[in-house]
Amino acid sequence: MEIRSVGVVGAGQMGNGIAHVFALAGYDVLMTDISEQALKTALELIDRNLDRQIARGKITAEDKAAALGRIRTTLTLADLGKCDLIIEAATERETVKQAIFEDLVPHLQPHTILTSNTSSISITRLASRTDRPEKFMGFHFMNPVPVMQLVELIRGIATDDATYEACLKVVERLGKTAASAEDFPAFIVNRILMPMINEAVYTLYEGVGNVTSIDMAMKLGTNHPMGPLELADFIGLDTCLAIMNVLHDGLADTKYRPCPLLVKYVEAGWLGRKTQRGFYDYRGETPVPTR
Ligand code: NAD
Repeated sequence: MEIRSVGVVGAGQMGNGIAHVFALAGYDVLMTDISEQALKTALELIDRNLDRQIARGKITAEDKAAALGRIRTTLTLADLGKCDLIIEAATERETVKQAIFEDLVPHLQPHTILTSNTSSISITRLASRTDRPEKFMGFHFMNPVPVMQLVELIRGIATDDATYEACLKVVERLGKTAASAEDFPAFIVNRILMPMINEAVYTLYEGVGNVTSIDMAMKLGTNHPMGPLELADFIGLDTCLAIMNVLHDGLADTKYRPCPLLVKYVEAGWLGRKTQRGFYDYRGETPVPTR
């Protein structure tokens, strides 16, 4: 079955990027969120990011107009039931995701494929709460979605071959590259990346370096395009903490203990760029380290 229409649940930083790339690749997109403001902001961001692609000569003004014409929004989750493929990209909390899938199930078509963009939560467990674990997968985009080449495809224990192949075809049509990962906590990318970010926060917590020296050291010393603390702010410190907790709980190894300083920043509501403050303060012209 050919996938033509895609439902996106959650219009945050990932949801808007996902809607953007699908619309540009010719899919009809229906995006939902619990917040009307989030949907409005997402559409504005997509508009601006498409302009940026025009300025770089990657797409034409006609491509942009066609893509925007393919994106619709709704506050009613059930409206997504008509879509061929659904990508859940809501807040990284298992209870939130489970409730979304439970609410969606009665409205789905028999052929609809369900996927989650989760960074770390068990695909098998999310799938088991639906009526179609064989048509359920992890569809993990990287941030920012229009720029990053990789999609991690994660099969749950029950995912069938037809579902995997259908998702693989979608990744190819998006012009991206898939890496296949098994369903263990945080999969491949975040299993490796998050402990590094957490260790950077420990390095700060223990006073081995400050924000500037840690990011400088990793950028110039290991050729990373962003320092780990800058990257953590970009991802969202709440998301980083949620992933560390999944690793810690799921693998029961103390090496995944979230750094108390990371917990403190999240408690303060300093979640990184999305709240304008994290390891850097983004409220002025240039980011200023907060430690
Ligand atoms: P975000 O905080 O920017 O956005 C989450 C959105 O979900 C918000 O707009 C919120 O209103 C909405 N939401 C919450 N509950 C909802 C519900 N019941 N129904 C509909 N919408 C709901 O978060 P994000 O960074 O976009 O992350 C979303 C997902 O993508 C998470 O699972 C995260 O782990 C994953 N992810 C994030 C990154 C990253 O770098 N931030 C990268 C890859 C994957």
